[in-house]
Amino acid sequence: MKNETLLKITKEFGNPVYVYDSNKIEAQYNRLTSAFNKVKQLKINYAVKALSNISVLKFMKKLGAGLDTVSIQEVKLGLAADFNPQNIIYTPNGVSIEEIEAVAKFGVQINIDNLSILEQFGTKHPNIPVCVRINPHVMAGGNTNISVGHIDSKFGISIHQIPHILRIVENTGMHINGIHMHTGSDILDIDVFLYASEILFDTAKNFKNLDFIDFGSGFKVPYKAGDIETDIEEFGRKLTARFKTFCKNYGREITLSFEPGKFLVSEAGYFLTKVNAIKQTTSTVFAQIDSGFNHFIRPMLYGAQHEIINISNPKGKQRFYSVVGYICETDTFANNRRITEINEGDILAFKNAGAYCFTMASNYNSRYRPAEVLWYNDKAHLIRKRETFDDLLNNQIEIVL
Ligand SMILES: *Cc1c(COP(=O)(O)O)cnc(C)c1O
Repeated sequence: MKNETLLKITKEFGNPVYVYDSNKIEAQYNRLTSAFNKVKQLKINYAVKALSNISVLKFMKKLGAGLDTVSIQEVKLGLAADFNPQNIIYTPNGVSIEEIEAVAKFGVQINIDNLSILEQFGTKHPNIPVCVRINPHVMAGGNTNISVGHIDSKFGISIHQIPHILRIVENTGMHINGIHMHTGSDILDIDVFLYASEILFDTAKNFKNLDFIDFGSGFKVPYKAGDIETDIEEFGRKLTARFKTFCKNYGREITLSFEPGKFLVSEAGYFLTKVNAIKQTTSTVFAQIDSGFNHFIRPMLYGAQHEIINISNPKGKQRFYSVVGYICETDTFANNRRITEINEGDILAFKNAGAYCFTMASNYNSRYRPAEVLWYNDKAHLIRKRETFDDLLNNQIEIVL
């Protein structure tokens, strides 16, 4: 988006504020579907946890996406956004059997990743079709916190436990209609993904009534200049060929599914903050902004490097700054980063602020969560109001002391 447009949005809606460019979301969606246009039945289920604003969900529905959800609350958001329950898949980890049963009542596709839960669910509801999440034990992922396929992972049912799954299916008479994996975020290497896919195909052969195979997500997007990104087009060609071979051997066409979060929304997002103060120490120049890890935690939690642009002075001379927040704890967004000259009052834009940014925001230090704006049809639409003091007190109970 243009700097002038972003500056106008901060004037209209205040700061800090999250802005999402619907054109970019649409372009990413089209890029992914084009890469797999030779697949007869392709399904893209957007991972709600990346960015769960209901207007964003509605936009995904307009594009033709389904939803991938990890909690009953995300399912309810999807239903509130008017999604058909059949276009929602629920992939929880470590939730109670009661929650899974409640979601199944909505008619949502259930995906189970635990033998104990599979057996309980199959015994009680043998007629509800279930997908199983497999752990192919492939180490993929840019960050140990988000690689979920390796041997010690709490996610998925190990490929070494396929005989157990088959025994449960036989004993309960349940119907497995899908096979799933999600090996982690930030896949750098297509061959690793394809290797895991082969394991999934091998697993799928054991189940005769599949409607779909779900390859999860993990598409990498660039965060800064020179970053490697997943070559979606090459990946599309290679996986499509393998999928076609699989379907031929399987005896019929089934659906190929993905559930991208970051790929669809990361680059669409901008987080706009104002510089409260410049603080020069003997060694460092700090730019102190009106935010902190209460609004934007990825740099501190994952060491994520988000590009920062001074949109108030984009052509200025470059200097080195450490961009820090206002939280009473170390909350460094960037260390000694080259940014065009910053003055107090300037607006800094954080890029790639669409995925796992607002959804991870909190009220730490009793600060309000920011507003959210969707750029749609060449217009800025407020899609979430900034919180107010009432929101902080809401649900608190003052007792008489
Ligand atoms: C988080 C998650 C995704 C989305 O991952 P991205 O890296 O954002 O694309 C997909 N599937 C499942 C099961 C997830 O938990």
